[in-house]
Amino acid sequence: MKRMLLITLCLAGCAEPTAPPPKTTSGSVDDARIIAAAEVEPSSWLTYGQTYKEQRFSTLNQITRDNVSKLGLAWSKPIGGNTERMQGTPLVVDGVMYATNGWSVVYALDAATGEEIWTYDPETDREYVKYSCCGGVVNRGVAVYKGRVYVATYDGRLLAIDAETGQEVWDVDTWHPSALGRFNISGAPRAASGKIFIGNGSSEAGKRRGYVTAYDAATGEIAWRFYLVPGDPSQPFEHPEMEMAAKTWGGEWWKLGGGGTAWNSLVYDEELNSLYIGVGNGAPWPRDIRSPGGGDDLFLTAIVSVDADTGRMNWYYQTVPGDNWDYSAAMDIALGDMVVDGEPRKVLLQAPKNGFFYVIDRTNGELLRAHPYTEHISWATHVDMETGRPVENPEVVFEREPQWIIPANAGAHNWEPMSFDERQGIMYFYYHDYANFYSLDEHFVETGEYIIEEVGLSLGIGYGAYRERLMKESPNERHPTTGFLGAFDPLSGQYRWRVQLDTGFNGGVLATTTGVLFHGEGTGVMTARDSDTGDVLWHYNAKGSFSSSMISYAIDGTQYVATMVSGSLDYATPGTLLVFRLNGDAAQPEPSVRDRTIPEQPPQTASVEELDAGNTLYHAQCAICHRGLGQPSVVASASPDLRRMSAETRDAFEAIVLGGMKSDLGMPAFNEALSVEEVRAIKAFISEKAREARAEQLAEQNTRS
Ligand code: CA
Repeated sequence: MKRMLLITLCLAGCAEPTAPPPKTTSGSVDDARIIAAAEVEPSSWLTYGQTYKEQRFSTLNQITRDNVSKLGLAWSKPIGGNTERMQGTPLVVDGVMYATNGWSVVYALDAATGEEIWTYDPETDREYVKYSCCGGVVNRGVAVYKGRVYVATYDGRLLAIDAETGQEVWDVDTWHPSALGRFNISGAPRAASGKIFIGNGSSEAGKRRGYVTAYDAATGEIAWRFYLVPGDPSQPFEHPEMEMAAKTWGGEWWKLGGGGTAWNSLVYDEELNSLYIGVGNGAPWPRDIRSPGGGDDLFLTAIVSVDADTGRMNWYYQTVPGDNWDYSAAMDIALGDMVVDGEPRKVLLQAPKNGFFYVIDRTNGELLRAHPYTEHISWATHVDMETGRPVENPEVVFEREPQWIIPANAGAHNWEPMSFDERQGIMYFYYHDYANFYSLDEHFVETGEYIIEEVGLSLGIGYGAYRERLMKESPNERHPTTGFLGAFDPLSGQYRWRVQLDTGFNGGVLATTTGVLFHGEGTGVMTARDSDTGDVLWHYNAKGSFSSSMISYAIDGTQYVATMVSGSLDYATPGTLLVFRLNGDAAQPEPSVRDRTIPEQPPQTASVEELDAGNTLYHAQCAICHRGLGQPSVVASASPDLRRMSAETRDAFEAIVLGGMKSDLGMPAFNEALSVEEVRAIKAFISEKAREARAEQLAEQNTRS
């Protein structure tokens, strides 16, 4: 009643150009309201996955299959730069939208108009891009709880902000020396049971040990911390689960960290007062390096259920015992109820990177189904339902025979949100077939020792010239990269329908009760499809790239659909919120086209050996931000493609890399990691790659003209 009144007042007031923004009532968001939201408040989007069950299925019914062709832009608002990856889920509470950009800046906006109410800039340390994987500057959104907005920042902090005023209440550093290296946080915090839950990322950037921390929502005090990988066994274990986990590791894993970061999925179960933690991959990737003589390496790539109040473990289910391929289980998790083999079950649903779709009983961790959701899985033959374990393919052993393996480290399905229609028992989601070349680190093969990079990538699979040589000798070819969107039945393992997409990397989906499925594609096209057939009913070209989530909400009887678009390789589109409604007639500003010309290069004077050394060093040190040169991608990276560097930048190369000349832009000095000779070799290698790419560009232009 109180909320209704406020909305009515706002409508009267908002008609005036000088009207004050709507008053927030985010103070009323608590566990009870989030739990009730699915039934009584489909007009809101109160938490990352819509409600605690994270089904992301809208029961709003104004937009239908019949009228979706009239969908148009209601408003748009740039909130990010043209190289940030806009992956956040905006929340909508009492007419206010809370959204974040890649650098974790929080925007409170009038959800009907896009008008700004306040912004909060946590002044994220730009240098933290060096701990990211592949140059992605990402924040997946906020939690709104009891009058506050909580954001976890790219430089590893958790902040509480007053929802009314946008003023900071508290700011804690979630890093602890037990995590080893500093880390990024890209995931959204979750709020429940008086606590804020958050994990961390960066397991590819050197030594890292994953954990999840629960903070008191009011004070920011630590309530509990659950480690996901055991530490040094000569020291006391932090909690009893670590003693059990340590028995499954080999060698001196704690010196390398082990990985197991929970960088995305933390799902609260209101019925069981549990938190489900989706655990990431092992680090370094190959188990021979990470845990020689070890076993399952708990709790890597597992789903762990812990008591939300005590942080003690209820159960775990490990999707990939002894992870060897970067097969994170940190992907989104949805909760629901299903009748399985005639019995009602409380289920947990996840499609992790490894290619199998899991249905798990969330009361006890029992595996109920694990059907493949892609036709192309080479690392395992199936999941044995007796043991609950995947059966690794004995023919596919990269330690013995380096080769292309599918799915790749990017997974068959990654974090991109799925949408679960519980009535039909159907999960809508996008996945891709994408292969990677796996081998063992060269120095490790030669000496049995692994040198972990303190700055740069530390994957353990070998770099640059060495890896390229192995690729030439590969026993198999790379599987083509293809994206798919489908309606999947997790119990039968069958698709009701499945369509191939125009590109391999795409965004998340939202299904609605009226049979409309919204999806953002990597090409920058957003579609509305018939969720019974996959047929396209409407599309919108945002000129950029989607790797985002989709939400729907309603204000004063109008249903909206919102998402965010990122810049692409072709368009310098700023990270922009796009909000649609029926008969919307707003226009998105035309983005500028990116100049992708590669400048002419000076003559090459480096030897083949120097170029090979530069290749290996580039991939070890630079690729974590600047990516592998020439790698296919649709999304712009926060760190520039170095093949396009100008003559001035080339002249200043050593001053930048060793002297830290561009450290204010997030490019740190590498004077402790690299020598002058090594920097020159990297520069020569980049120039060689630029020359090749420029020749290709010119040939392409000649063919066109
Ligand atoms: Ca990973």
